Amino acid sequence: MERISWDQYFMSQSHLLALRSTCERLSVGATIVRDKRVIAGGYNGSVSGSVHCIDEGCKVIDGHCVRTIHAEENAILQCAKFGVPTEGAEIYVTHFPCLNCTKTIIQSGIKKIYYAHDYKNHAYALELLEEAEVEVEQVELDYLHIDTNTKDKLYFISQLLQKLEENGTNHEELKQLTQEANRLFSNVE
Ligand SMILES: [Zn+2]
Ligand SMILES: [Zn+2]
Repeated sequence: MERISWDQYFMSQSHLLALRSTCERLSVGATIVRDKRVIAGGYNGSVSGSVHCIDEGCKVIDGHCVRTIHAEENAILQCAKFGVPTEGAEIYVTHFPCLNCTKTIIQSGIKKIYYAHDYKNHAYALELLEEAEVEVEQVELDYLHIDTNTKDKLYFISQLLQKLEENGTNHEELKQLTQEANRLFSNVE
Protein backbone atom coordinates (compact mmCIF):
# COMPACT_ATOMS: atom_id res chain seq x y z
CA MET A 1 0.00 0.00 0.00
CA GLU A 2 1.24 3.47 -0.90
CA ARG A 3 2.00 5.70 2.06
CA ILE A 4 0.03 8.95 2.32
CA SER A 5 2.19 12.10 2.02
CA TRP A 6 2.25 14.75 4.77
CA ASP A 7 0.59 17.26 2.44
CA GLN A 8 -2.24 14.85 1.72
CA TYR A 9 -2.51 13.93 5.38
CA PHE A 10 -2.80 17.52 6.65
CA MET A 11 -5.04 18.56 3.76
CA SER A 12 -7.40 15.67 4.50
CA GLN A 13 -7.58 16.82 8.11
CA SER A 14 -8.71 20.26 6.87
CA HIS A 15 -11.34 18.60 4.68
CA LEU A 16 -12.55 16.61 7.68
CA LEU A 17 -12.75 19.79 9.77
CA ALA A 18 -14.74 21.46 6.97
CA LEU A 19 -17.41 18.81 7.56
CA ARG A 20 -17.86 20.34 11.05
CA SER A 21 -18.72 23.74 9.56
CA THR A 22 -22.00 25.23 10.81
CA CYS A 23 -22.48 27.80 8.02
CA GLU A 24 -24.15 26.61 4.86
CA ARG A 25 -22.55 29.22 2.62
CA LEU A 26 -19.19 27.48 2.39
CA SER A 27 -17.62 24.65 4.38
CA VAL A 28 -14.00 25.53 5.10
CA GLY A 29 -11.41 23.76 7.23
CA ALA A 30 -7.95 24.89 8.33
CA THR A 31 -5.09 23.03 9.99
CA ILE A 32 -2.01 24.73 11.41
CA VAL A 33 1.13 22.65 11.34
CA ARG A 34 4.60 23.13 12.80
CA ASP A 35 7.46 20.69 12.32
CA LYS A 36 5.03 18.17 10.77
CA ARG A 37 2.81 18.32 13.86
CA VAL A 38 -0.74 19.61 13.97
CA ILE A 39 -0.89 22.48 16.47
CA ALA A 40 -4.44 23.72 15.81
CA GLY A 41 -7.47 23.28 13.61
CA GLY A 42 -10.58 25.25 12.79
CA TYR A 43 -13.69 25.40 10.66
CA ASN A 44 -16.05 28.25 9.87
CA GLY A 45 -18.72 28.61 12.51
CA SER A 46 -20.37 30.88 15.07
CA VAL A 47 -18.81 32.30 18.20
CA SER A 48 -18.76 29.59 20.92
CA GLY A 49 -22.15 29.21 22.56
CA SER A 50 -24.03 31.20 19.90
CA VAL A 51 -26.67 29.88 17.49
CA HIS A 52 -25.61 28.08 14.31
CA CYS A 53 -26.41 29.15 10.73
CA ILE A 54 -27.48 25.55 9.97
CA ASP A 55 -30.20 25.92 12.64
CA GLU A 56 -31.21 29.57 12.32
CA GLY A 57 -30.16 30.46 8.78
CA CYS A 58 -27.25 32.75 7.92
CA LYS A 59 -27.13 36.31 9.23
CA VAL A 60 -26.44 38.07 5.96
CA ILE A 61 -25.34 41.72 5.80
CA ASP A 62 -24.08 43.19 2.51
CA GLY A 63 -24.01 39.75 0.93
CA HIS A 64 -21.82 38.17 3.64
CA CYS A 65 -22.72 35.93 6.54
CA VAL A 66 -21.58 37.98 9.56
CA ARG A 67 -22.22 35.25 12.12
CA THR A 68 -19.25 33.07 11.31
CA ILE A 69 -15.62 33.24 12.23
CA HIS A 70 -13.58 31.85 9.36
CA ALA A 71 -11.73 28.56 9.71
CA GLU A 72 -8.27 30.14 9.46
CA GLU A 73 -9.10 32.70 12.17
CA ASN A 74 -10.57 30.01 14.41
CA ALA A 75 -7.39 27.94 14.08
CA ILE A 76 -5.15 30.93 14.82
CA LEU A 77 -7.35 32.01 17.73
CA GLN A 78 -7.10 28.51 19.16
CA CYS A 79 -3.33 29.03 19.27
CA ALA A 80 -3.83 32.41 20.97
CA LYS A 81 -6.21 30.90 23.51
CA PHE A 82 -3.80 28.18 24.53
CA GLY A 83 -0.56 30.09 24.05
CA VAL A 84 0.85 28.13 21.12
CA PRO A 85 3.26 30.10 18.89
CA THR A 86 2.28 30.38 15.20
CA GLU A 87 5.58 31.96 14.15
CA GLY A 88 7.09 29.97 11.27
CA ALA A 89 4.13 27.59 11.09
CA GLU A 90 2.28 26.42 7.99
CA ILE A 91 -1.47 26.37 7.34
CA TYR A 92 -3.49 23.91 5.25
CA VAL A 93 -6.83 25.33 4.09
CA THR A 94 -9.54 23.81 1.93
CA HIS A 95 -10.15 27.14 0.16
CA PHE A 96 -7.94 30.06 -0.77
CA PRO A 97 -8.17 32.48 2.21
CA CYS A 98 -10.23 35.67 1.98
CA LEU A 99 -8.52 39.05 2.29
CA ASN A 100 -9.10 39.36 6.04
CA CYS A 101 -7.85 35.87 6.78
CA THR A 102 -4.84 36.49 4.54
CA LYS A 103 -3.91 39.50 6.65
CA THR A 104 -4.45 37.52 9.88
CA ILE A 105 -2.31 34.66 8.57
CA ILE A 106 0.53 37.01 7.58
CA GLN A 107 0.37 38.84 10.93
CA SER A 108 0.47 35.57 12.88
CA GLY A 109 3.87 34.75 11.39
CA ILE A 110 2.69 31.76 9.37
CA LYS A 111 5.15 31.24 6.55
CA LYS A 112 3.37 28.97 4.12
CA ILE A 113 -0.19 28.48 2.93
CA TYR A 114 -1.30 25.25 1.29
CA TYR A 115 -4.77 25.48 -0.21
CA ALA A 116 -6.90 22.93 -2.07
CA HIS A 117 -9.44 24.99 -4.00
CA ASP A 118 -9.18 28.40 -5.60
CA TYR A 119 -11.89 30.62 -4.11
CA LYS A 120 -12.32 34.24 -5.26
CA ASN A 121 -8.53 34.62 -4.92
CA HIS A 122 -8.17 38.31 -4.10
CA ALA A 123 -5.51 40.20 -6.10
CA TYR A 124 -4.61 42.34 -3.06
CA ALA A 125 -4.30 39.22 -0.88
CA LEU A 126 -1.82 37.78 -3.38
CA GLU A 127 0.08 41.07 -3.40
CA LEU A 128 0.30 41.12 0.42
CA LEU A 129 1.43 37.49 0.54
CA GLU A 130 4.20 38.18 -1.94
CA GLU A 131 5.27 41.27 -0.03
CA ALA A 132 5.37 39.31 3.25
CA GLU A 133 7.19 36.44 1.50
CA VAL A 134 4.57 33.94 2.57
CA GLU A 135 4.72 30.96 0.24
CA VAL A 136 1.50 29.77 -1.37
CA GLU A 137 1.05 26.32 -2.84
CA GLN A 138 -1.99 24.51 -4.16
CA VAL A 139 -2.39 20.97 -2.84
CA GLU A 140 -5.43 19.25 -4.19
CA LEU A 141 -6.76 16.26 -2.32
CA ASP A 142 -5.94 13.00 -4.01
CA TYR A 143 -9.38 11.44 -4.05
CA LEU A 144 -7.94 8.00 -4.70
CA HIS A 145 -6.76 8.09 -1.09
CA ILE A 146 -9.56 10.00 0.54
CA ASP A 147 -13.04 9.84 -0.87
CA THR A 148 -15.05 12.87 0.25
CA ASN A 149 -17.83 12.95 -2.32
CA THR A 150 -19.47 9.57 -1.90
CA LYS A 151 -22.94 11.14 -1.88
CA ASP A 152 -22.43 12.79 -5.28
CA LYS A 153 -21.11 9.54 -6.70
CA LEU A 154 -24.03 7.57 -5.35
CA TYR A 155 -26.44 10.08 -6.86
CA PHE A 156 -24.62 9.90 -10.21
CA ILE A 157 -24.75 6.09 -10.20
CA SER A 158 -28.45 6.08 -9.29
CA GLN A 159 -29.10 8.39 -12.27
CA LEU A 160 -27.15 6.03 -14.52
CA LEU A 161 -29.10 3.03 -13.26
CA GLN A 162 -32.35 4.88 -13.87
CA LYS A 163 -31.27 5.62 -17.44
CA LEU A 164 -30.40 1.96 -17.97
CA GLU A 165 -33.85 0.98 -16.73
CA GLU A 166 -35.50 3.49 -19.07
CA ASN A 167 -33.50 2.08 -21.96
CA GLY A 168 -34.85 -1.40 -21.25
CA THR A 169 -31.92 -3.13 -19.50
CA ASN A 170 -32.73 -6.66 -18.34
CA HIS A 171 -34.32 -6.63 -14.87
CA GLU A 172 -32.00 -9.24 -13.33
CA GLU A 173 -28.91 -7.49 -14.68
CA LEU A 174 -30.15 -4.16 -13.33
CA LYS A 175 -30.75 -5.68 -9.90
CA GLN A 176 -27.16 -6.95 -9.79
CA LEU A 177 -25.77 -3.57 -10.84
CA THR A 178 -27.84 -1.83 -8.15
CA GLN A 179 -26.59 -4.23 -5.49
CA GLU A 180 -23.00 -3.65 -6.59
CA ALA A 181 -23.46 0.15 -6.50
CA ASN A 182 -24.94 -0.06 -3.01
CA ARG A 183 -22.09 -2.27 -1.84
CA LEU A 184 -19.44 0.14 -3.21
CA PHE A 185 -20.94 3.42 -2.09
CA SER A 186 -23.08 2.91 0.95
CA ASN A 187 -22.29 -0.45 2.52
CA VAL A 188 -25.96 -1.34 2.11
CA GLU A 189 -26.50 -4.87 0.86
ZN1 LIG B 1 -23.78 31.56 7.88
ZN1 LIG C 1 -11.58 34.24 5.66
